[in-house]
Amino acid sequence: MSVEKVQIVEKILDANDQMALENQQVFDQEGILAINIMASPGAGKTSLILRTIEGLSPQYKIAVIEGDTAPVTIDADKVNARGIPVTQINTGGDCHLDALMVRKGMQSLNLKGIDLVIIENVGNLVCPAAFKLGSHNNVVVASIPEGDDKPYKYPNIYRGIQCLVLNKTDLLPYVDFNLDYFKQGIRMLNPTADILPLSSKTGEGMDAWLAWLRARIGEKKHAAK
Ligand code: MG
Repeated sequence: MSVEKVQIVEKILDANDQMALENQQVFDQEGILAINIMASPGAGKTSLILRTIEGLSPQYKIAVIEGDTAPVTIDADKVNARGIPVTQINTGGDCHLDALMVRKGMQSLNLKGIDLVIIENVGNLVCPAAFKLGSHNNVVVASIPEGDDKPYKYPNIYRGIQCLVLNKTDLLPYVDFNLDYFKQGIRMLNPTADILPLSSKTGEGMDAWLAWLRARIGEKKHAAK
């Protein structure tokens, strides 16, 4: 890349970081916890979100921002069917959300009284890592059928996260997946992220994930008082 191109990319990222910070301030003022969920396509982001809604509402008020590369509302419709406010962002082919897109999503939702905003990023293990959105916590959903070598192949996405959900543990008996090798790969990149194996199909392990969220929602509400 030429020097000018590098400078342009740096400027775009700086502007994005600034907007992400402003988004976070809005969430903070409202006492909302915002989480950014990243994963490859098919890891089970939407299924996890639906299970999370089941587990946390109506105790907590949840809103969802759905990122998709095309104007299909399959995921948003599923969330909407649960009676949860949802807004769909069509990235127009872009492989990630950015802070401006999330800002627009926030503006189209009524955030008053909301406790948790879940942002479902575009299914991709590369691009979303570079763009801050204003979320307090970044989560990667990995899944058993994707294989145990993903941390070694896509290192950047695992570096800035606070939680790694390892989904589809119900498939462990049928797939060669070395859990220790996978965890080692994560630990090499990120010594502190919580690693939570679960199955959003059977519900096994969901309690730990819901407790992880409840603790953070509680902290945000407390700080906003
Ligand atoms: Mg989805």
